[in-house]
Amino acid sequence: MMPFSVRTFRVRSLPLRPAGFPSQLLLWFFLLGWTPLLAVAQPTVDYRITISAPGDDEARIEMTIHNLDGRETLDVALPAWTPGSYEILNHAKHLFELTAQGPDGQPLLLRRRDKQTWRVRCAGQSTVILRYGLLCDRQSVDSNWLGPDYGQLAGAATLLYVPDGRHWPATLTFHLPQGWQAALPLPRRADQSYTAESYDALIDAPIAVGRLTRLDISVRNKPIAIVTTRPPKDPAGLQKAVTTIIETYADLMGGLPFEQYMFQYLPFADEDDERLEGLEHANGTLINYAPEDLLDQPQTKNWLVVTAHEFFHAWNVKRLRPREFADYTLDRELYTPQLWFAEGVTEYYAWRGLRRAGLISAADFDEAIRSTLTYLANNPAAGQVSLAEASIGTWLTGTSSFEDIPLDYYRKGFIVGLLLDIEIRTRTSNARGLDDLMRQLMRDFPPESQGYRHEDIIATASKLAGTDLESWFRRYVEGTDELPLETALNHMGMAMLAEPMTELDFGFELEATPAGLEIVEIDPDSPAGESDLEEGDLLRTVAGKPVRSEADFAAVLSTLQPQKAVKLTVLREKRPLTVTLTPEVITTLDVAVGPLPNPTPAQKALRVALRGE
Ligand SMILES: [Zn+2]
Repeated sequence: MMPFSVRTFRVRSLPLRPAGFPSQLLLWFFLLGWTPLLAVAQPTVDYRITISAPGDDEARIEMTIHNLDGRETLDVALPAWTPGSYEILNHAKHLFELTAQGPDGQPLLLRRRDKQTWRVRCAGQSTVILRYGLLCDRQSVDSNWLGPDYGQLAGAATLLYVPDGRHWPATLTFHLPQGWQAALPLPRRADQSYTAESYDALIDAPIAVGRLTRLDISVRNKPIAIVTTRPPKDPAGLQKAVTTIIETYADLMGGLPFEQYMFQYLPFADEDDERLEGLEHANGTLINYAPEDLLDQPQTKNWLVVTAHEFFHAWNVKRLRPREFADYTLDRELYTPQLWFAEGVTEYYAWRGLRRAGLISAADFDEAIRSTLTYLANNPAAGQVSLAEASIGTWLTGTSSFEDIPLDYYRKGFIVGLLLDIEIRTRTSNARGLDDLMRQLMRDFPPESQGYRHEDIIATASKLAGTDLESWFRRYVEGTDELPLETALNHMGMAMLAEPMTELDFGFELEATPAGLEIVEIDPDSPAGESDLEEGDLLRTVAGKPVRSEADFAAVLSTLQPQKAVKLTVLREKRPLTVTLTPEVITTLDVAVGPLPNPTPAQKALRVALRGE
């Protein structure tokens, strides 16, 4: 998933006459021969985050705005979402006890304007202080969570902003329990405050707090911090994996685009949590992982992939960004058809970078392609929803669970990235590829630019390939044409085989419980769903054979005939019940991918370039 380089947000220009600036005064300045803008100091914002005790899941925030411009009212708001995680989370749900006061402590009138915006009657005061509490009980890379030993705060979920003052400079200080530290990738002053040139830059830094362990290294003369919640058992291995990843992408993209970078690895506190999530920021990433001992195995494939994916975002999406991100909305959805490029191509680079670095094997790379193709072959949405449409539709489902997304643009984007790489290489006898496209786009659309459009990717790729690729993009990115997988893989000296596998299914799930084998989930569009079976029934026999375990059930299922009705007996509230069902035939495609024997020199050259021997 995934904020923004200090420079990636367009800095809004100051209005010539700040709102509320009395025009008589303006005239007075003119009469005196002053330039009015010089007389107006820029407002600044200081935030202070207080966590009173370890284990307290509420944080207290104080926000002080200085040098206000004489306005009568001031709006403050909390973002609806966290940049990089394309889902409306309504962070204001967790905010409570908001108060406002003037510089001498007198309360100011405060009124809620909408679900996340409040209006303060500041009546021309130059300083306004806001105080509020936040419930921090959702451990996710885009949200706030405080535990007994450590915690994580997302700026967008934590810090109020002034909608017309996002360009005002800000500072952040912490008041933490004894023994706790804060770690975040922002410049720090001698007085221990962190500084940012704007609100957007401030919230583009993940905040880790607690009893933290910090490993400081230097790669290509840039300070790199690795923050963990306890000392890793293999600090040298962790340092080596991170250094190799950084060096690989610096080589690929031509240097490092930041002044400092921080990897935060914080485990999920819930032992049953099996997620592995990362969120990219301009100069760092927060990665939440499970299980806890994964920290001690930095060579694990999942660990490497999430680290490489988030790190490559330092280029793709944090600095090279779609045109729609030039005007960044925090109060509502920010739609772009380009998430296949921002996320899917990043996922392709995670695997390709790791292979290039020698951190994974060629077989690992092939397996990534195979499992992704298996997903696509068995997902009907792949033929119905385009990558461009899926990028926009993600706002309905969020990115937290791949399974909820009708078409996962990470996975199809990964394959389309690979196919584009093969297309450019095939057309240029392997002289140019996707690496050249990424570098050229970075040069043409630097962070201070307005960002790329879909047409810009097509034009740049076409120029590199020496042929017009517009119809290619129309078919596979904007459209839902079947991907030319076999031909493309053949160009890179690889073959794929998709074989249908059939099995019979009634449409329910089973769970072994002390009472017996319980039917726990019934698919409404299935033979079971259309029968008298109910969730909670205990399955006793199928086709006259007793079933006591899931293995028994699978064994009986394998002996049944399609289209032939069978009797099932169940116990419901201790009474036996017989139901007649006809199992349905489920067909899935099983995909195999591997290198071709005896490739031509051209096939071999491409294969070596993309996945090694
Ligand atoms: Zn991502």
